[in-house]
Amino acid sequence: MALIEVTNLIKSYDRLDVLKQISFTVERNEVVAIIGPSGSGKSTLLRSLVHLETIDNGTITVDGSSLVKNGVYAKPKEIKEITAKMGMVFQHFNLFPHLTVKQNLELAPKLVRKEASGDLEKRSSALLEKVDLADRADAFPAKLSGGQKQRVAIARALMMNPEILLFDEPTSALDPELTGEVLKVMKDLADEQMTMVVVTHEMAFAKEVADRVIFMDKGEIIESDSPAQIFKNPKNERTKAFLGLLE
Ligand code: ADP
Ligand code: MG
Repeated sequence: MALIEVTNLIKSYDRLDVLKQISFTVERNEVVAIIGPSGSGKSTLLRSLVHLETIDNGTITVDGSSLVKNGVYAKPKEIKEITAKMGMVFQHFNLFPHLTVKQNLELAPKLVRKEASGDLEKRSSALLEKVDLADRADAFPAKLSGGQKQRVAIARALMMNPEILLFDEPTSALDPELTGEVLKVMKDLADEQMTMVVVTHEMAFAKEVADRVIFMDKGEIIESDSPAQIFKNPKNERTKAFLGLLE
């Protein structure tokens, strides 16, 4: 069974249909890149998965449990359990500015899971090591570069031991010279079989790291295929146009 299963997801804002009957699955250990023009609904789709947006109709099932089934949401306690399986990394990092790097990592597991401080410390140190920021544990976010902030955000998401990581344009706010260090951390996670859904404009990353690429336009999934197919031989005219492949 797929780790994420989305069926006929519909979402509109007032009269604007943002997601029009979206269906797709994400298998365990799969890396799925979502590409598409601005305004096509990519962020709304990711945010719907973690219940930062409420959908109008459709079904979202994560690891066998339905967050929402035919438009009817699970009970609050179940919603919490289901969304806790996913960690989200945003374009603008969303770190707590008044907390140090280490405190940013430890806050949620401490509050939500009442984890003991010894365990927290061990895990936050290990994760900061993993994203190559062991020496910045006591720094405040304002003292970090964008690339460092985003690596903190990734480590923070990993503190909750998610089954799935969702990324919404994680490198779009970064200067070009800082994107590489973030993409490297993401590639390492992919190599460790982390299940990931990545909204990105980094086509090289999608080509190299993704198992599958979904192209969205105007609230629809236009094409979903291997990177080789999408980038070399897209079937749809809109995909070709987006990738600049039309002569
Ligand atoms: P993308 O991430 O692909 O750029 P979004 O999911 O952010 O697309 O937005 C899809 C569409 O929904 C856009 O037309 C956007 O203007 C609209 N939209 C997004 N959020 C809201 C909101 N809170 N209220 C009204 N319209 C919104
Ligand atoms: Mg977006």
